[in-house]
Amino acid sequence: MQARECTRCSELAATRKTVVFGAGNADADLMFIGEAPGASEDEQGLPFVGRAGKLLDQLLEEIELERRDVFVANVLNCRPPGNRDPLPIEIENCQYYTMRQVELIEPSVICSLGNFSTKLLRGDPTGITRLHGQPEVITLGTRNVRLYPIYHPAAALYTPRMLATLREDFARLPELLALGPPEQPQPVELPEPEVTAEPMRAPETRDEPSLDQLGLF
Ligand code: URA
Repeated sequence: MQARECTRCSELAATRKTVVFGAGNADADLMFIGEAPGASEDEQGLPFVGRAGKLLDQLLEEIELERRDVFVANVLNCRPPGNRDPLPIEIENCQYYTMRQVELIEPSVICSLGNFSTKLLRGDPTGITRLHGQPEVITLGTRNVRLYPIYHPAAALYTPRMLATLREDFARLPELLALGPPEQPQPVELPEPEVTAEPMRAPETRDEPSLDQLGLF
């Protein structure tokens, strides 16, 4: 796969152990988009397998879902060294892969985990503190999807109040999923090309009546 050898971000390509592409159910109605792989994910080549991933599993279990029911991806597919924040240029370089995954999975609901994915998907700098728990329909590529921003589980690991909010937001996911996919944009209909001149025909194919047909002979 193209992403496995990606060198668009030279620093990340030089320091990563693996490219961590999204994983899970390719038919999922629910997709999560996190930030970037950490050390455990970089080791194992899978998203959300470290402590934040364990919390994600627990929250899923609380709403009677499992990891294999959902698809999980990240804004960046490579670990930033020392778990630093993704750089704007890295987000730009990697968004092609994120969008391809959304196109392939066609989820009804995307849960953006934290600031980086929420800002990327909304194309707007409004932060997660203002937006968490408020679903909205957004257009990604040719499809409409229900975006549901929530706190990143890694942030909630260390802040009990944030964890309580994350849990409350998570608890509203089943009713959002029950709505099904949002109405989709109408396919754009291209107008019929205008006929500006008589089509040219080769002389021998002309279907003028023959003299014989005209009954002259
Ligand atoms: N945090 C993320 O945002 N993604 C992972 O895959 C792991 C931790």
